Amino acid sequence: MAITQFNSVDPGLFSRYSRQGPRYTSYPTANLFGPDVDEALYRSEIARTDGRPGAPPLSLYFHIPFCDTLCYFCGCNMIVSRNRQKIGSYLDMLIAEMDILRPLLGSDREVTQIAWGGGTPTSLEPDEIRRLADATRARFSVSEDAEAGVELDPRELRREHVMALAESGFNRVSMGVQDFDPTVQEAVNRVQPLDVTLQALEWVAEAGITSVNLDLMYGLPHQTIATRPRPRSTASSRSRPTASPSSTTRTSRGSSGTWGSSARRTCRRRTRRCGSSWRPSSG
Ligand code: SF4
Repeated sequence: MAITQFNSVDPGLFSRYSRQGPRYTSYPTANLFGPDVDEALYRSEIARTDGRPGAPPLSLYFHIPFCDTLCYFCGCNMIVSRNRQKIGSYLDMLIAEMDILRPLLGSDREVTQIAWGGGTPTSLEPDEIRRLADATRARFSVSEDAEAGVELDPRELRREHVMALAESGFNRVSMGVQDFDPTVQEAVNRVQPLDVTLQALEWVAEAGITSVNLDLMYGLPHQTIATRPRPRSTASSRSRPTASPSSTTRTSRGSSGTWGSSARRTCRRRTRRCGSSWRPSSG
């Protein structure tokens, strides 16, 4: 749905989906995890699904849980931290996990989808972004035309992040916005001036990433019909991203490079489980 078409959304969709639903941001979903899901079960499930005739291509999701601050609506699995050492250690662990998983999966299974979510994937420095992307390519057969998406938080984003993502083959961006109204932003502890969002969109366009969606949320404090985002006067004036409206009542949440080529709530606590759109999304 183009954001410029937001006003033409079928109202029936809102009544259909305006209710509590299961988390859809991860698979298996969070409520299926528990003490019974141990290493042995995990390995046996991988073996069972990998051994099926015609096992489908792989989709890889990388969760980067670090954020600078906590948005009060957030339901993601995140940690407020700027500790570079901690972030670097986490990156080491992600790569180590790939080393464990790779032998368990059929070598002929191509990776056709990659998603980085969080948290804030761009809490990784540009060199760390390249390192993780390179490590993935070194261990998996990533399709030349893999769909590779990443969640972006414009607030701490730098141009270098976007260029590193584009060089690493990302071709889809999901950008967290939630609401353009400063009053709403302050109420949810996510102050994000419009210019910051527009700058991020400019960098994404400069990097050649053409699949972009904005996460918008309804149900936040101070939101009314009258103050709903007016895309024609804001983001859509410079680009045409798609919108992913989500509700705070449901726990929620897309370079021109290619992956296979060249290089390659209640959440006032410090941890949470995420639901940011394609997820992936919140960011
Ligand atoms: S909404 Fe996104 S940026 Fe905000 S705390 Fe949650 S994961 Fe971090």
